[in-house]
Parts: sequence; structure tokens; C-alpha cells
Amino acid sequence: MNKRTFIRLFGALMASPVISPLLAWASKDKLKNWAGNLEYSTDRLYSANSLEQVQSYVKKQGHLKVLGTRHCFNNIADSTHHLLSLKSMDEVVALEPEAHAVTVDAGMTYGQLCPLLHSKGFALHNLASLPHISIAGAISTATHGSGEKNGNLATAVSALELVTATGEVVKLSRQRDGEAFLGAVVGLGAMGVITKVTLDIQPTYMMRQYVYENLPLTEVKDHFDAIESSAYSVSLFTDWQDQRISEVWIKSRVEQGQAFDATAEFFGAKHATRNLHPIAELSAENCTEQMGVPGPWYERLPHFRMGFTPSAGRELQSEYFVPRQHAVEAILAVERLRDQVSPHLMISEIRAIAADKLWLSPCYEQPCVTIHFTWKQDWPAVRKLLPVIEKELAPFKARPHWGKLFTMSPAELKSIYKKLPDFIQLSKKYDPDGKFRNEFLNTNVFSS
Ligand SMILES: Cc1cc2nc3c(=O)[nH]c(=O)nc-3n(C[C@H](O)[C@H](O)[C@H](O)COP(=O)(O)OP(=O)(O)OC[C@H]3O[C@@H](n4cnc5c(N)ncnc54)[C@H](O)[C@@H]3O)c2cc1C
Repeated sequence: MNKRTFIRLFGALMASPVISPLLAWASKDKLKNWAGNLEYSTDRLYSANSLEQVQSYVKKQGHLKVLGTRHCFNNIADSTHHLLSLKSMDEVVALEPEAHAVTVDAGMTYGQLCPLLHSKGFALHNLASLPHISIAGAISTATHGSGEKNGNLATAVSALELVTATGEVVKLSRQRDGEAFLGAVVGLGAMGVITKVTLDIQPTYMMRQYVYENLPLTEVKDHFDAIESSAYSVSLFTDWQDQRISEVWIKSRVEQGQAFDATAEFFGAKHATRNLHPIAELSAENCTEQMGVPGPWYERLPHFRMGFTPSAGRELQSEYFVPRQHAVEAILAVERLRDQVSPHLMISEIRAIAADKLWLSPCYEQPCVTIHFTWKQDWPAVRKLLPVIEKELAPFKARPHWGKLFTMSPAELKSIYKKLPDFIQLSKKYDPDGKFRNEFLNTNVFSS
């Protein structure tokens, strides 16, 4: 089936408001992740309503994993024993304007937090492509948005409250705990149950979003830095066909000195005349407002609107982080694979992220560019293709997204994450017997 037919088949369905995640939680079917490509290995799911319930549940179980909003594509959140949900622990605990901080329960999603923050006059520095994800799940996997000056979402964390394997409550803060804090934030669920998260906030701001169509690849080659630095957040979408970037999404802050000059052409790309979906065949109804219409930060930074299906729905995703200095070479390396990639691809996205100091962040001590793939949901085909892409990106020491599909070996991961041994040591302090480990962690982290 070609891409156009495949997308048309479910495009109409996906244009409707989202209902499937709620149904999935309520149905008698086996519990699956958001995309439906992964059935969790147990249906023993306990929902905690308080810190005390989390503590007593953790004390009782030999092995468990916490489930966020189930948006990972691999088995990082899976358990063969027990799953714990903090979904109903979703309140703002404290808003402290003087400290530029908000503390929330770990079950809260960005979609719940952001309008509340904005109504009180505050904002976060960045968001992922979708607001539907839990804050704890997002920071645990180093989830990111775009913008060369913006760190990933975990860089906004200034403190964490964790329930460790003994049921003890541990608080870690950026100010007090130095390296232990930097190791625990992108914790892959290995440190314990995050029960509260404190995030940096700033005064609220307005944004405008512009989309340009058909950016020639030669312009990317020759002007990559100028393109990436043109606005607060820049995303390039491509299907790797015809030597062009099909859509450039530019998110600009409406502030003096920051505003993007929205001319009719952008490095040869033409200003779109209507709202677009990154997958051009799908309805833009699910997407945040474009065409330069001003709106609050949380309705422009994500590509997809809360209450609607993000992305395509029935899909797979992979993403690789490449050190910024190799961005163009890496993009061209993937472009050379276009004939192998395209039959299985819905869309690719290229984003820039600032460096950080979080041990298992793919941007640890290096600014990155990410090359993302939204695949048709055909795992046998994608599984064959990923090693081909990974081989091409290996010279750049590309790091895979922790929450998406990859085939790199544990030895390769070890060679590109110099803080992995420290991470293992730190997690043993909070979880000496591996209560929070699962197959994903045992294979990719603890086998090294
Ligand atoms: C449509 C779509 C678009 C996406 N867009 C982006 C994007 O723009 N940028 C990006 O970087 N990623 C993106 N992702 C990936 C996604 O952001 C990550 O996979 C993220 O981790 C999802 O959060 P979650 O709560 O659903 O996590 P889950 O899949 O539920 O869990 C992820 C990990 O976090 C752990 N965890 C969750 N809650 C806790 C807790 N309270 N305590 C301890 N551990 C916990 C789990 O055990 C697991 O290890 C996208 C995914 C989808 C489906």
C-alpha cells in the first residue's frame, strides 16, 4: 500500500477528537501503549491516589514499573509483574512566583498544567509536539521540543520527590544535590516512583506559528545554522522525496527583538496559505493554529492540540540525536537512504536542542539535532530498516530517543553514554535489588 492510500484510509478517522486512550484504560482488552504496538506484559495495574498509597504499594511489591500516559513506543514502561499508575495524582501542589517554580503531582500532564499556569500569568520554556503526555514520563525519557536555545523538557526540572524501593521518600533538588540530581532526572523509571516534580517557570508569553512549504535541501545544506536560528523553535518536516523539506514550522515569541519576520519566502520555501498537518494528507484540525495568529505559548509550542489525536495515531516512531556540528552530514546521510526509508515512512522531523548536564540525556554536554521518523505500523519492516539507519548515523555517535524504537546494542549505548556507569551506581543506591528494573533496563542499561 503506498503512503497516500495508507494515510487516506485512516485520515478521516484520525481527524476526530481523541477517544481511544480513555477507551483503552476502560476496556477489557489487554492494556496497550498509546500507539497500540505494544501490549503490556501484565494487566495487574494499581492506581494510587496518595503518597502513602504509593509507599505502601512499593513496599509490598517485589517488582513494578510506573506507567505514565503510555506514549513510549518501546517496552521501557513494561512490567511482567505489576504496573502502578499515578494518573489520579494530578494537582498543582504549589505555585511559587518568587522562586520561579511550580510543583505538581507526577500524574499531571502538560495538557492539564499549561492552561492553569497561563491563567496565573506563567509559562514553561518549551513543550513536546503534543501536550497529552505526563510530566513525569516525559522527563524520565528526556522528551524534547525544538529550538536551538531550548534544553529538553527535563532541563526545566529543579526538584523531584521519589519513592525509592524501600518505600522511603527522597527529595532531590538542583540546588542541593548536585550530581545525584543530574543523574536522577532523566531516570528511565529506574530510580523509583516520581511523586512530585518542580519545574522552572517564567512570565507567560504569546507566540505566532508560521508554516512554509518546499524548502530546497540545498538551502538546508548551505544555511542550516541560519535556518535553525531564525526563531525560538524551528521544525523541518520531510518525506525525503524530491530533495526538499516539505514543511518548515516556525514558532516565534511575540516580543520585541524575538519576533520572526514572516516574509512570503523563507530560504526559497513559500509561506503556506492555510493551516497544515505535518503529514500533508491529514487534516490540520488536530494541529495548533498557524498563519501567524497570536496565541498563548501552550497553544503554539506543541504541533498538536489537546483533545485531538496527535500525529497519525496508528504508527511507530524512532528518533536519533546527532551532535549539532554533524547535523548537515547526518541529514544528507539519511537522505541517501530515501528509497529504503520512504516506503515505510509517514514523515520525518528535524529539530534542534540545546546541550544540558543531565546524565542520560542524549544532549548531555552537546547541543543536538534530532532526526525523527514516524513510521507506518509495520514493525518487521521497520526493525530491518533501523540498523541500516543506525549504521549510517554511527560515525556521528547518534543516540536514540529512550522512548522510541531502536535496535542499537547495549555495547553501543554504553560507548556513547559516558555517564552510564554512574547512572547504574546511583540507581543501585535507591533500588539495590532492581525492583524498578524491567527487560528494557536490564538489556539496555544494566547489562553493561
Ligand atoms: C504522538 C507522539 C508524539 C511524540 N512527540 C514527542 C516529541 O515531540 N518529543 C519527544 O521527545 N518525544 C515525543 N514522544 C515520545 C514521548 O514524549 C515519550 O515517550 C514520553 O516518555 C511519554 O511520556 P509517558 O508519560 O507517556 O511515558 P510512559 O510511556 O508511560 O513511560 C515512560 C517512562 O517513564 C517512566 N515513568 C512514567 N511515570 C513515572 C513516574 N511517576 N515515576 C517514575 N517513572 C515514571 C515509565 O516507567 C517509563 O520508564 C511522542 C510520542 C507520541 C506517541
